[in-house]
Formats: sequence, C-alpha cells, structure tokens
Amino acid sequence: MVTMQRVSGIIAQAEKQNRRNLLENEAKSICQEYNIPVTEFRLARTVEEAISCSKDIGYPVVLKIVSPNVIHKSDVGGVILNLKTAKEVEEGYKTILTNVRKLQPNAEIVGILVQEMAPQSTEVIVGAIKDKQFGQTIMFGLGGIFVEILKDVSFRITPVTKQEAKIMITEIKAYEVLKGYRNQPPSDIDAIAEIITNTSKLVTNHEEIEELDLNPIMTYEKGAKTVDARILLTDNNDNMDDAPSKSRNKETKTR
Ligand code: ADP
Ligand code: MG
Repeated sequence: MVTMQRVSGIIAQAEKQNRRNLLENEAKSICQEYNIPVTEFRLARTVEEAISCSKDIGYPVVLKIVSPNVIHKSDVGGVILNLKTAKEVEEGYKTILTNVRKLQPNAEIVGILVQEMAPQSTEVIVGAIKDKQFGQTIMFGLGGIFVEILKDVSFRITPVTKQEAKIMITEIKAYEVLKGYRNQPPSDIDAIAEIITNTSKLVTNHEEIEELDLNPIMTYEKGAKTVDARILLTDNNDNMDDAPSKSRNKETKTR
C-alpha cells in the first residue's frame, strides 16, 4: 500500500506541474517501488554536486540531461557514458549543457542525472501501452534493430503472470540470442520475466500511466538492470475521442 501511495505521489506532483512525461529519475524511482532493478542514480544541479554524486556511486559513471522537454536524450547530445574521473565528469557535465542549449534551446533544464555505468550486454526492452480496447498491454523485445526495424516483439494483455512472461520471452524470433552465442553468455530469463510481471503490476495499479518504456534493460547471466526508463501519463484533457495521441511513437502505431 505504501508503494502505491509513493508512486501516486510522484505522479500527482508531475500532474500538478502539467508534465505528462516523467523525468528519468522519477520513472526509475517508480520502478524501484515495484522491484524493477535500475542503475543507481542521483540528481545533480551543479558540477560540484555531480562530482560528489559520482564519488558516492563509484566510477565509471554515466551523465544524462534531465529535462521535462527532452524525450530522446541522446538525440540532443544529452547522454555521456563511461566517465572515469572527476575531471571527466566536470567536462561531461558542461558538454551536455552546451549540447542541449544548442540543439534544444527552449528546453527547461532540471539538472544532470549521475548514474552507475552498467556493463554492456544483450539489451532487451519491456514496454507498456494503455490500449483503448484492451487496457494495459505489455510488450517485450530485444533492443536496437530487433524492435525498431524487425518489429520482433511479443505482446500480452495484463495481468501477466511470471509463467506467461516466460512464454512471452520465448515467443520472439530473436529468443536464440538470449540463450547465448559465441562469447556472449546466456541472459537470465527468470530476471527478465520478473521485470515483465512487476511492470504488469505497476501499470495495472496505476491507470494514469499511458505508456512505459524500459529501454534498454541490460541482461546478464545473473540478473538484469534497467538503464533507461520513460513514463508517459494519460492526458487528462483527452476526452476519449478516436484521435491518436500525438506523443505516440512509431512502435505504438504499428500495434
Ligand atoms: P535515450 O533517451 O536517448 O533513449 P538512454 O538513457 O537510453 O537515452 O541512453 C542511450 C544509450 O546509452 C542506451 O541505449 C544504453 O545503451 C546506454 N546507456 C544509458 N545509460 C546507461 C548506463 N547507466 N549504463 C550503461 N549504458 C547506458
Ligand atoms: Mg533509451
């Protein structure tokens, strides 16, 4: 119950500020409430804070822009990976601000999110979308070209049990990749299934969530970690007409 209240609190604050897109730190805090593993993160508002957060988290770190107006952070030079020293963090911090101010001058900048750098691995995506007809639905696929170009995904209407989640994982064509190949160890299917069921619980408990994207989740031989989380709230002014939501992305439209 406490979990639901905390999540509702984060959502209510965003709604009060007329923000439909939650900030990455807000989306990740919500994930944590539902035991969805995420990279450790701290919000910094100055270079000095970013350096002290990096020290706390431990190098190497990742820096990302935090802005209610920036949806695809890498598109505006808002993500820098693998920073190893305080000096690199200082430079990275400044570079991100310069990039964003140049490429999206009107973006309101809240700060910079410092996070642990998750080791590179096979990336998967878990998504949720509130379908007008079916309600909350869950999507699963592999990161990169598999979802974006090959549309190799599986879907379920919530609630999704862990057993069902496991079947969902085996349904994609790229499932073989998760079994491991050459030097790539197999991915922890159980950990991915757990993330799917927890995401299902999250979106069924919170109908205010219109779309959710855990993209990507790094998968390991043991465990998995969400490195980017995006949550879009329902438009309260949307009077349930048939007009498609402007914010819906390509993947959504193909459904
Ligand atoms: P975008 O808003 O552009 O989707 P992401 O946060 O997904 O930004 O970052 C872009 C890419 O950088 C990710 O797809 C992932 O490969 C990598 N990445 C992001 N955060 C981390 C992290 N904490 N550890 C390791 N890799 C990361
Ligand atoms: Mg992403």
